[in-house]
Amino acid sequence: MSDLVHGRASTYQHRGCRCADCKKANTESQKRANHRRHAELVAGRVHPEHGTYSTYCNYLCRCGDCRAAASIAQAAFAAARKVKAAQA
Ligand SMILES: [Zn+2]
Ligand SMILES: [Zn+2]
Repeated sequence: MSDLVHGRASTYQHRGCRCADCKKANTESQKRANHRRHAELVAGRVHPEHGTYSTYCNYLCRCGDCRAAASIAQAAFAAARKVKAAQA
């Protein structure tokens, strides 16, 4: 018995459904949220901490500090993936 409505970000986030439709809806909704936050950032209405990977991702900030933080984080992810691959 299930009353889940699929293809919705809320089903993904609140009901924990990981079906392809809900995943896609969630990705789209995150993307929209990021663009909304980016618009707020550009408008000067929000002041997230710069030089962090989360600001780079969530606010689509591409200032020098956030880009530097992102490249460090991405290098760390790549290194972690390599370690995992070597262990497999
Ligand atoms: Zn679903
Ligand atoms: Zn920034």
